[in-house]
Formats: sequence, structure tokens, C-alpha cells
Amino acid sequence: MDKERKLIIAGNWKMNKTVAEAIDLAQGLKRELGNLKDVDIVLCPPFTALGEVSKVILDSTLRLGAQNMSEHNVGAYTGEIAAVMLKDFSVRYVILGHSERRQYQKETDDLVARKALTAFNGSLIPIVCVGETLAERQAGQTENVVGTQIRGSLAALSKEQAIETVIAYEPVWAIGTGHTASPAQAQAVHAFIRRTLAEIYGEPAARKIRIQYGGSVKPANAHELMTQPDVDGALVGGASLEQRSFVDIIKNSI
Ligand code: PEP
Repeated sequence: MDKERKLIIAGNWKMNKTVAEAIDLAQGLKRELGNLKDVDIVLCPPFTALGEVSKVILDSTLRLGAQNMSEHNVGAYTGEIAAVMLKDFSVRYVILGHSERRQYQKETDDLVARKALTAFNGSLIPIVCVGETLAERQAGQTENVVGTQIRGSLAALSKEQAIETVIAYEPVWAIGTGHTASPAQAQAVHAFIRRTLAEIYGEPAARKIRIQYGGSVKPANAHELMTQPDVDGALVGGASLEQRSFVDIIKNSI
């Protein structure tokens, strides 16, 4: 597929997979996808499996991502993981501000902004998640909510850092529900996000920033979503837990 920006497709395994299961899935994905160069593929296992998955994908084009990290660099923060610890496992990307963390851990745009800056300072690329709830969409608040999240969550970054950042538009009502945004709905919000990025960083910078869609992406809907002009990849939850479906999403996207 001829896209303006290189596609980036990430699998968010969430709180699934023991180490043995994670190795098994990573080995299978490496066999089928490990030589692909025209799409960036990122596996985001739980922290406990990062070390072993890192070893499995070492000599492949697959990249490693974490699902969260601390805004602090070191110190008395029980239960937290620092950027430098992720670098121990050659982690390249880190998902920040996922809607589940915004909902259950009450993460705010301000916290996500601080984490994003800490990520860059630790040589990690943030995947910053934004998205409206069903109630917000029904109230006509989608652009208001998503625009506020974008401005707030990227507030600490320079233009150069923003260009490197990956945005994941994930409508909360589409995550894990089987209700995917239609390609037109996704494109409309992605275009709005890019207009917002152009207002902040200028048009040339905004054209470089990759915006993933996330929310019940499956092999059957991947192609139509990925061919939208402002959709530059996917953040995949449920369908990334199984080799066949994740491979098919990627094959149907390129
Ligand atoms: C997600 O949680 O990032 C996600 C997109 O999940 P799912 O694909 O299961 O909707």
C-alpha cells in the first residue's frame, strides 16, 4: 500500500499471557512477520514477558513496546517501572494514556504529558492514546474531548518530539466491544487530529505524525480502515492475542 507515512501496527496484549505463552506467540509472529520492512510492527507484552519476548524478536524487524511507564526516572515509587528499566529489554515504544489507564488509574492529560517527556528523555517513543466515550460522542463532544486530550497530552513536547510521537485514536466505545468505528468515522477524527496538530506544530510537522486507529480492529476491517488517508496504522487489543488474527490484520493492511 502506498501511504504518505509508514504504517505502524502495534499489538497491546494488556494483562494477558504468561511468559511461556508470550514466548510462544512471539515466536509464531516472528516466523510469519519477522522480515517485513514496509510496516513497523510493535509487540507490547506485559512487563513480566518483556525480557523473553525481547530475546525472541532480537534478530527480526519486530519491535518491542511497553504498556505504561512511570513519569519518574528513579526512586521510591512502589510498583512503578522506569524508562531506563524498559531500555534494559531494548524496548522502543511505550503506550501512554490508554483509556483503561485513564479510566481505572485516573490518568490525566497532564500526567500523560509528563510521562511522554520522560519517555523521550529515556530514548523511548510514546504511543499517546486519545478517544471519546460513547456519551461524549452522542453529546457531540468528540472533537472537543479529543482536541483537549491532544493539546494536554503533548503539552510538554518540542515540535521535533511531537513529530516522532505516535498518536493512537481509540474511541472508548470501540475498545473491546466489537463495535468498530466505520472507516469514515475514523477518518473524520484522524483528519481533525491532524488539523489540531497543524495548529500546534505547523502543517509540515503535522503531515509527518503517525496516527493509529484502535478499537476492535480485526482482519475483516483492517484493510478499509488502513486505506483511509489519515489512518497510519492500528493499535490492536483482543485480535493481537492470537497469531492468526494479528498476522492477518497486518497482511490485510499492507
Ligand atoms: C486497545 O485496547 O488498545 C484496543 C484497541 O483493544 P481492542 O482491539 O480489543 O478493541
